[in-house]
Amino acid sequence: MEKDTNPERVIINFTKMCALDCEWCYVPFDNKEISIEKLISVIDRVSVLGFRSVTFGGGDPFQFKDLAPAIIKAKELGLFVHVDTHAITLAKSKENSHLLDNFIDLIGLPLDGSTDKIHDLMRGRIGHYDLIIDKLLWLRDHKVSIKLNTIVTSVNEFDLANLEKLVRKIHPERWSIYQFWPIGPAVKAQSNYTLEHCRFLESIRRLDYNILDGTVVEINASESRRRTYPILNHLGEVYFHHEYPHNEFQYVGSIFEKEISSKMDELCILERDQAVSRYSTTNKYEETNNLP
Ligand code: SF4
Repeated sequence: MEKDTNPERVIINFTKMCALDCEWCYVPFDNKEISIEKLISVIDRVSVLGFRSVTFGGGDPFQFKDLAPAIIKAKELGLFVHVDTHAITLAKSKENSHLLDNFIDLIGLPLDGSTDKIHDLMRGRIGHYDLIIDKLLWLRDHKVSIKLNTIVTSVNEFDLANLEKLVRKIHPERWSIYQFWPIGPAVKAQSNYTLEHCRFLESIRRLDYNILDGTVVEINASESRRRTYPILNHLGEVYFHHEYPHNEFQYVGSIFEKEISSKMDELCILERDQAVSRYSTTNKYEETNNLP
């Protein structure tokens, strides 16, 4: 049955594990095995339920060796395909180039500081900043649109104006700025990273958007992300960001349940205005298949 209400996008997180160990990470890892058959059945179901866009997210999709068939399937089904990656396992291979050029619409990479010191501190990994800059240069030779993701916390907030200058040089299609949200496992990091809402807004106000020259900037305060989209794990278990004041994920059910669509519609409020244009339809797959 075709959905005629929001939500129109889902996130599918690879919750088995992650190669990084960001102290403030909010992904509830479960160590559950990933199989391509199961993942494809989840993607099929997402499409049957009428969703138009899928974000493959952390852990890290590129850590899963069978990612390519899943992405190709999603594109074949007409979904807008967005992949978020920490880029460590994003090999500069011919296979990945083919995937990026033909089947992925938007790729998101983290950038949490204007210098290696600040970014690496945020990500808990020396050398990660250099790796991100290197992978961004490589990605620039592909047809995929690039999104930079910045988590703003009390640790890196002072650097935001310098980071903006770096973003101008990189010139991605989008820059998503997220206020740190101590939700789920991230609660344990709140004393070190929490940035009050008014300070987050002040930092955002200080930015000079004119210098960004065409890069779309998305400001994502933590409260604005509640109940806007379903979050699935790779097994198809559906969660939402719980309603205020609980900083928890709310389990809704399995994507394969008969009544799941109405449950999700009931929980979901409208997508944030800021994020709507992120998932404008592209027809990469059709373009690929129409080539002579
Ligand atoms: S890269 Fe993403 S998923 Fe991995 S630990 Fe960091 S925040 Fe969590």
